[in-house]
Amino acid sequence: MIPLVKPYIAPKEEMLPAIEKILYSGYIAEGEAVYKFENELSNYLNNPNLLVVNSGTAALHIALTLLGIGKGDEVISTPMTAEPTNTTIALTGAKVVWADIDEETGLLDPESVRMKISERTKAIMLVHYAGMVCDLDKFNAISEETGIPIIEDSAHCLGGKYNGNIIGSNSRFTCFSFQAIKQMTTVDGGAIALKDEKDMEKARKLRWFGLDKKVSRLENDIKQAGFKYGMNNVNATIGSVQLRHKEVIQRYIENGKYFDEALKGASGVTLIPYYNNTEPSYWLYTMKVGDRDDFCRMMESEGIMASPLHHRSDTHSVFSESKCSLEHMDKWYKSFVHIPCGWWVDDEVREKIVDCIKKGW
Ligand SMILES: *Cc1c(COP(=O)(O)O)cnc(C)c1O
Repeated sequence: MIPLVKPYIAPKEEMLPAIEKILYSGYIAEGEAVYKFENELSNYLNNPNLLVVNSGTAALHIALTLLGIGKGDEVISTPMTAEPTNTTIALTGAKVVWADIDEETGLLDPESVRMKISERTKAIMLVHYAGMVCDLDKFNAISEETGIPIIEDSAHCLGGKYNGNIIGSNSRFTCFSFQAIKQMTTVDGGAIALKDEKDMEKARKLRWFGLDKKVSRLENDIKQAGFKYGMNNVNATIGSVQLRHKEVIQRYIENGKYFDEALKGASGVTLIPYYNNTEPSYWLYTMKVGDRDDFCRMMESEGIMASPLHHRSDTHSVFSESKCSLEHMDKWYKSFVHIPCGWWVDDEVREKIVDCIKKGW
């Protein structure tokens, strides 16, 4: 079966010597390997204000904490995402306020977000779901107008672009995940990219109990309690080797562009229109199909995994207070589907996928 997701690990000859060296170096906690990976990632994402952490969830939690979000506050978000986007909001004590999605793309609808803004709104959480980039032209305008900061959950969107620039420096906070099934994995890991240099030092402290690493432990005075969210040298070493293989990230994008062209006009399929000035990372290829169950069965009988993958977040009991009607979400949820698009999909497989879809179901 061709899977929807699959971890890429760099060749043994490159990876194992690097891991062996760091494991027996005596320095396996946060150290030089972390700062090296941080630098490399910072260069790739074209943002000098970047910190690596031990998960994407940690990155989101740090962003929310930096904004001082807590009980009595509201964060506008989408149910069309993986759980951590919204469980981290719940963790702060703030209320998740659902906005509806754009039925054509599955991404947050700027007009719906605008209508949900109240005096308690402290942030807008944008998810570049499946690697499709949100309508940043409109969201940037809303953020400028209202002064409400944006947190971009870019866990699905490593390598996506806005205005020709790689995602990672548009908003005050952009969070990435290097969990097993994301475009690039460090086994587990994440990063937070910041727009404001002033947020950097605070974020650095928050990732390590609230301590300042530049000052000795005896001279340290914790003013705000932080977390234990730093990355260690082992995961960072893995990350440095993985990041040498940008062709892997590029292959998702090439496959996605191929499907965009090859599936044009295919009957029973509605392709996603991408927003102005955005370029997806195609972590998963997303489209809408009629008779989705039959579609998935047909694809599986051909040895190709096809599925909606994510469960909408607003149905969890923890968010029961946030419940509201989301008309477009309901419609989208019945018809969207993902097909494999990643580095393991070679030319032959992608042609087969297109042939199967064109034959019908
Ligand atoms: C994976 C993921 C996260 C969290 O990443 P972890 O590294 O697993 O903590 C956050 N948001 C979305 C949308 C994700 O898919």
